[in-house]
Amino acid sequence: MLQPITERTFYLPGANNLGVIATGDGDAIAIDTGLDKNSGRALRKALDAAGLQLRAIINTHHHADHIGGNDYLLRNLPGVSVYAPPLEAALIEHPVLEPVYFNQGARPHTALRNRWLMAPRSPVQHILGDLARIERGEPQQAEVAGVAIEIIPVPGHSLAQIAVACDGVCFAADGFFGPAVLEKHGIPYAHDVAAQLTSLDRLAARDEHWFLPGHGELVARNVVGDQLSANRAAIERSSAMVLQALEAPGDAVAATARVVRKLYGEVALPGIPQYVVFAGAVAAHLSFLEQQGLAQVSLEADGLIWRRTAT
Ligand SMILES: [Zn+2]
Repeated sequence: MLQPITERTFYLPGANNLGVIATGDGDAIAIDTGLDKNSGRALRKALDAAGLQLRAIINTHHHADHIGGNDYLLRNLPGVSVYAPPLEAALIEHPVLEPVYFNQGARPHTALRNRWLMAPRSPVQHILGDLARIERGEPQQAEVAGVAIEIIPVPGHSLAQIAVACDGVCFAADGFFGPAVLEKHGIPYAHDVAAQLTSLDRLAARDEHWFLPGHGELVARNVVGDQLSANRAAIERSSAMVLQALEAPGDAVAATARVVRKLYGEVALPGIPQYVVFAGAVAAHLSFLEQQGLAQVSLEADGLIWRRTAT
């Protein structure tokens, strides 16, 4: 059932929280659609029960667990348009690109072609915001289904991820994670760690009353600061762990194995999708360490070898 946040904003709680904005004339905007047709169906039922008709979907970023419900909703409801930020839109329209990048650009092998990494393709009719301004972190005004919203850039977790602000609520997507989710993941998934940290600061400076992460509990303004700090701490801990993994030189695969061992002992990650996502996050931290002058990579007989920068 839809949970009210303010007079015109709601959310459907779940492993993926789905945001809803009522337009005021019986229509609704969904913010993300969850993993698959089950989450799409659950959202449809919740909107039906609230007497709301879906008009628009805003996808905050391209990850399969945020766009996987689009296909069901677009097939079953007439007149729904999809909005997404630039760059993310390309990956939403061509979802094979997610398993492709997790496979170093190669044709994805079978284990990567599943709903966790590859959503059904979805059209994107409207691009939300300007890419250069998202990269510079400038909020932008937009109108979706007649409703004025603010697009808050929160890149880092994904290339050009956005949060959406409306009616005193910040739908923060994966700009931050709830404490239980942070605990579970070891390393919060990142594409660009420096941007991820800057995005946390951007969220901390917002004055909305409510913040809804994609994964975690709805939090009030007076609590979100602590959660954003916990996210920063988890990211910094992750960087330190990856740096520690370079005590001996090694390639990204070796570094990943050392971090996995440090976090989970001799237990393997639960599946191939989880492993490639984890390895992707380690790769983001290796790039971040290089940016900070703490690590460097060179081509050697065994491949691309990372080592700590001599100090
Ligand atoms: Zn995500």
